[in-house]
Amino acid sequence: PWGFDANIIKKDFPILNERVNGKPIIWLDNAATTQKPRQVIDRISYFYEHENSNIHRAAHTLAARATDAYEEARKKVQLFIGAGSPNEIIFVRGTTEAINLVAKSWGEQNLAAGDEIILTHLEHHANIVPWQQLAAKKGLKIRVVPVDDDGQVLLDEYAKLLNPKTKLVSFTQVSNALGTVTPVKQIIQMAKQAGAKVLLDGAQSVSHLRVNVRELDVDWFVFSGHKIFGPTGIGVVFGKEALLNETQPWQGGGNMIKDVTFERTQFQNAPYRFEAGTGNIADAVGLGAALDYVTHLGIDNIYRYEHYLLQYATQLMKQVPGLKLIGTAADKTSVLSFTLNGYTNDQVGQALNQEGIAVRTGHHCAQPILRRFGLENTVRPSLAFYNTCNDVDVMVATLKRLKGVK
Ligand code: PMP
Repeated sequence: PWGFDANIIKKDFPILNERVNGKPIIWLDNAATTQKPRQVIDRISYFYEHENSNIHRAAHTLAARATDAYEEARKKVQLFIGAGSPNEIIFVRGTTEAINLVAKSWGEQNLAAGDEIILTHLEHHANIVPWQQLAAKKGLKIRVVPVDDDGQVLLDEYAKLLNPKTKLVSFTQVSNALGTVTPVKQIIQMAKQAGAKVLLDGAQSVSHLRVNVRELDVDWFVFSGHKIFGPTGIGVVFGKEALLNETQPWQGGGNMIKDVTFERTQFQNAPYRFEAGTGNIADAVGLGAALDYVTHLGIDNIYRYEHYLLQYATQLMKQVPGLKLIGTAADKTSVLSFTLNGYTNDQVGQALNQEGIAVRTGHHCAQPILRRFGLENTVRPSLAFYNTCNDVDVMVATLKRLKGVK
């Protein structure tokens, strides 16, 4: 009914054949990073075996192959997120670098003392710290939209924070700690009405639900390749083309220039003005292959299947005595943060690892939202399309055994 069979899909992922403590591995740490299908691994090998060269510079055949492969990957990203032009797609190292790019270029150039930035209580540290650094330097004010006890943002409170000094609303589409899907359309619409720019953090959303940056009308959309079945070290900034071209680059060097003398430099237009130096060419190509893979499965199929799996897991986990789910918003993706009465989160993580199950324990680089719930850390299983009901069953059985119930 989902358009694919997770048990068959699993076979595309070589690492899912690993055994941990003598057990078949069950990868439930997808919010931290996802595993890579053979198609992505092979595409990167193919690049190094047949195409490797630096790009944009030389006249020889491999330079042309590498450049074509890299620019094709850019085009794939454009189509995947519904951008208007490949010129709106900048390759960076990941979401963290993406947000730093916007803060240290557009933010540095356009924000002044007294200006305000709105974040939500759900943000990952990557969408807090760069703005704090900028705020300290420039005398900006950071305001935070609170969440309710289910972990959903409070739109009424958000409305009260918006005012003519609001220059930017920067927020996550999906919380990495709780799985909350934020009411993106309303948040963006309200920001636009207040005349603010919008940065949307898609690190936890692009792999789970359909994103169309033009429909959303965001100014910037950022994500990491490694969370969408692509390699580490590659990520994306989407920015509206006119906005990118009126923003000065944050890093200078080769590739990003039109003309250099010792007196002055003329920059290229986007995306190249933001891609100084030799980038991560091979992994951009690998990301393109990952997006092909996801597109082949169908992002809407993935959404429906994961939603089913999330419901299944939620129901079963609720039956474990002393298990408390943190993050119970009606609109969620596949994150199941919890605590287990009588056990530290490390103990739970270790007990699960004994059974071959990988989950994250810790603060998930989102300390403010965990503290909102009076916690310093949680256990966080997180699902992807290659997970199955059996994976969930094994996890829940382990938790029940810990609690001495069947
Ligand atoms: N934002 C969110 C919502 C995230 O989940 C993450 C990764 N956990 C990041 C930003 C940072 O991504 P990266 O570490 O790949 O730069």
